[in-house]
Amino acid sequence: MTTSSLAGAGAVDSLALSVPTGLWIGGRSRSASDGSAFAVLDPATGEELAQVSSASVDDALAAVDAASGAAAAWAAVAPRQKAEILRRAFELMIERQEDLARLITMENGKALADSRSEVAYAAEFFRWYSEEAVRIQGTLETAPSGANRILVLHQPVGVALLITPWNFPAAMATRKIGPALAAGCTMVLKPASETPLTALALVALLEEAGVPAGVVNVIPSKRSGALSRALLADERVRKISFTGSTEVGRVLLELSAKTVVNASMELGGNAPFLVLASADLDAAVAGAMVAKLRNGGEACTAANRFFVHRSIAEEFSKRLADAMRALVVGPGLDAHTNIGPLVNDETRAKVASLVDGAVGEGARVLVGGHAVAGAGSFYEPTVLIDVAPGSAILQEEIFGPVAPVVVFDDVAEAIRLANATEYGLVSYVYSADLAEGLRVSEALESGMVGLNRAVVSDPAAPFGGVKQSGLGREGGHEGVLDYLESKYIAVSW
Ligand code: NAD
Repeated sequence: MTTSSLAGAGAVDSLALSVPTGLWIGGRSRSASDGSAFAVLDPATGEELAQVSSASVDDALAAVDAASGAAAAWAAVAPRQKAEILRRAFELMIERQEDLARLITMENGKALADSRSEVAYAAEFFRWYSEEAVRIQGTLETAPSGANRILVLHQPVGVALLITPWNFPAAMATRKIGPALAAGCTMVLKPASETPLTALALVALLEEAGVPAGVVNVIPSKRSGALSRALLADERVRKISFTGSTEVGRVLLELSAKTVVNASMELGGNAPFLVLASADLDAAVAGAMVAKLRNGGEACTAANRFFVHRSIAEEFSKRLADAMRALVVGPGLDAHTNIGPLVNDETRAKVASLVDGAVGEGARVLVGGHAVAGAGSFYEPTVLIDVAPGSAILQEEIFGPVAPVVVFDDVAEAIRLANATEYGLVSYVYSADLAEGLRVSEALESGMVGLNRAVVSDPAAPFGGVKQSGLGREGGHEGVLDYLESKYIAVSW
């Protein structure tokens, strides 16, 4: 069934998983039509893990043929049957959690503990949408005039193009595939070229769970620009759901305009983390460690800017630096590792230049501040204090284990600073005064707020951003609505 030609010295081959390395189209793995392939690298060593086929435009259109051919039959599958398939996929992911986690660490680099959490989180989207699949409800009302009834039902939006990033190779895929399957859509998934193996392992697992051939197609490719142009010009594609940078999201929105494709965008973040004067410092430091370092800092939800009240700023920063100093940086597969490498050298160079820029503008380094010498894309966990308000590190996503701290004097100023960004994905607030915490949460311009809580991601809750962090929501009941159209039937009887 698979073309498992993995190079990684037995590392990937040793997993009890089917990991195809070809394109997955119409229920089978095959090479790219022009024979192209690309290397997937281990970020801890820079060594090649596998050669994966690189889809051409012709291959991408073949994937749409497969998705479109399977659409009517999948839409007609009974909700209960869809639910059972999704439930089985959840169970298979949990059974194979350890192997899936190892695969994620191999291609993404993150510490194994982070990968295990990701698999558990990713699997929950299949469980949640197995439950939602049987609860897609319409409405029936009497029109205000009394002349007729208003019947509203939901239908699948059609073939969906799903594009995912490398930072959560499993969860960003299941957060789209789960609701799309529950809604009755068929799909073409293009995973990030840094981490295509996890998506390929997932599609094999989905078909084992009972998803019919052609319903989920996976097309890794190094030619994502050409592919998205061709796919979004194809009128059979009626939905795009993209998770990635705001920059690429803008390009895809422009392309979607031509064929008026229904677009959901989960884009970049620049999360503020506010520590108000009343905050419980122990809880705030523990929360800061999680909000900053989950996934090694490579998360759209990562706390990017710490605004701390002057009365506690030195103490908070010192404790945060002490906690970061205690972390072990090393290869993700090592049992003691807390922080793995960044995904590649380019990402590390960006982190280093943001830190160097902030230090050049007067920031003090409490811990870290440097790339780790030697092989692999490692960067030291870092705390910066007295960061100048205009520094680039406060404007851009850091995407690494670096915490810049800015001191504030009053809450209104903290809110103004927090909102001074084009992004609006998530914010964090620590306050022992719940009324104050809720008032500040309401004033923050973000789609989500963690109030005395460092993790907001939950398959049962609507995840998404405002401003230039995105359009639409994933997870919760809202997540399935993104893959449905409302059909209104005016009826008299
Ligand atoms: P990216 O935008 O570079 O790439 C994301 C995906 O888009 C990849 O599959 C990539 O191959 C593809 N891509 C790149 N150019 C394309 C084009 N022209 N047409 C079609 N596809 C194209 O992002 P990344 O570096 O993989 O991921 C990091 C970014 O993702 C960060 O900005 C992060 O905040 C964001 N992110 C957001 C969320 C969220 O839910 N809001 C979640 C995770 C990551």
